[in-house]
Amino acid sequence: MEVKKKDIRALTKEQLREFFVKQGDKAFRGNQVYEWLWQKSAHSFEDMTNVSLETRQMLQDNFVINHIKVDQMQRSSDGTIKNAVRLHDDLIVESVLIPTATRTTACVSSQVGCSLDCKFCATARLKRMRNLNPDEIYDQVVAIDNESRLYHNRPLSNIVFMGMGEPLMNYNNVLKAIDKITSPEGLGMSPKRIVVSTSGVPKMIKKMADDNVKFKLAVSLHSAIDEVRTSIMPFNATFPLNDLREALQYWYAATKNRITYEYVVWDGINDKRKDVDALVEFCKFAPSKVNLIEYNPIDDGEFQQANSKAIDMYVNVLEANNITVTVRRSRGKDIDAACGQLANKS
Ligand code: SF4
Repeated sequence: MEVKKKDIRALTKEQLREFFVKQGDKAFRGNQVYEWLWQKSAHSFEDMTNVSLETRQMLQDNFVINHIKVDQMQRSSDGTIKNAVRLHDDLIVESVLIPTATRTTACVSSQVGCSLDCKFCATARLKRMRNLNPDEIYDQVVAIDNESRLYHNRPLSNIVFMGMGEPLMNYNNVLKAIDKITSPEGLGMSPKRIVVSTSGVPKMIKKMADDNVKFKLAVSLHSAIDEVRTSIMPFNATFPLNDLREALQYWYAATKNRITYEYVVWDGINDKRKDVDALVEFCKFAPSKVNLIEYNPIDDGEFQQANSKAIDMYVNVLEANNITVTVRRSRGKDIDAACGQLANKS
């Protein structure tokens, strides 16, 4: 019977050091291999040129490196790049590079498909297959960093967890991936440049506060009226706005970080004065920023972006109430890479 080899990147540095000691080698060899696996993103044991051939063979006999493979890369006319990423079990997720004048942002996936059912989101139509491992999240970032250097002559500057999946439903692995991304033994990025965007899982938002995480939080709110939010994000029936607000209050008390809300204004759904008034009321408990995101219709056109008059109303009312507001134009629409469009169509 064939023995299933273990993914070597599931081991911590300490476990790798212990493994080498058990093999009668020096613990230091574990450091060397660990550096190849993370800092140098080695795709195979053969790449580890300062490790002896014998040791490389021994590693090959015991482990695999389940590196992702960028199956298909699409480049938009606006510089956006979308990667269809094949995982070791042949499942596919997508990640996106979004360049602007001042930054290059990676939008990464945290799950294959999604267990939530947001009505406006293409990913929701894919059944959740599984959570991504920390190394699969890390690899998406490395792939985009490489593409950023190659096509935009600069390294990646920011990361948002806004691709496929709900990151707080895969919290432990997301946390481990961020540890690697921010560690000097990984990519050494500042956690302040990382945003975890959630549809709002109250219990996990409190856990993040307790864990004293250093990255930023954004909440996909889309409505501050329970009935409306439940109609477009059905899981709001389980975690209503009161619970979400209470968790965010807890988060703010612990971190003193301004809260960012992602918000789309849809025609006939949340484009009335009462909707923006409810949003203002919801934002009152802490300094807040609202990103009004341009929407990209998915196939059936049930959800359509509201007209510019409604957007202007939101901007005016929010500003009049001292709430920071930005209007975000979508990128990569021609390659289905824009927000809410990730659905493995490529
Ligand atoms: S918007 Fe996010 S949480 Fe909602 S279904 Fe899509 S991927 Fe899942």
